[in-house]
Amino acid sequence: MSDSLLPELVDPFRLADKSRVLEGVLDMAAMPRLAVAMGEPARGLCRVALTFDRGPSGRPRLAGHVVAELAPLCQRCLEPMRLPVDSRFEMRLVQEDRQAAGALDEEDLLVVGDERLNLAALVEDELMLCLPVVPLHPAQTCAAHFRSEFNDRELKAAQKQENNPFAVLGRLKGGQDADS
Ligand SMILES: [Zn+2]
Repeated sequence: MSDSLLPELVDPFRLADKSRVLEGVLDMAAMPRLAVAMGEPARGLCRVALTFDRGPSGRPRLAGHVVAELAPLCQRCLEPMRLPVDSRFEMRLVQEDRQAAGALDEEDLLVVGDERLNLAALVEDELMLCLPVVPLHPAQTCAAHFRSEFNDRELKAAQKQENNPFAVLGRLKGGQDADS
């Protein structure tokens, strides 16, 4: 795939008439809805290939391929998790002011207003669909797994100290020393 930045707006119907393929990259830092869905801003570029043409029925359609590396926050430890995305999608293009007549149930329709399609918004939608409902590291590699073990140890150590009256005196004394 090409490394050039994709245009922000295209006329998908003209592209379909000409059977054009757009290849390039998009900056995921400029995808605010994706940032909200992931819990933190996306970084880096995603690679995109978009094929516009008219299918056998003559209806304009779009086939897309998006490759990205996302890092949504794990909902257990709140650290980012690695999520490679390699997604293909296909949709029929429909003008906003025309009826989507004859649409089949299994077809994805993309309604385009003003003959302008915002490519970043389209790809952002697709990336959001690739996010798990609840992103979670595998239990064995999740930081919360280690943290809970660590906390257990800390808790026991703290309890031991609380049982020792001199530990409290030691802490007070330590505080005074630090002040003086
Ligand atoms: Zn985790």
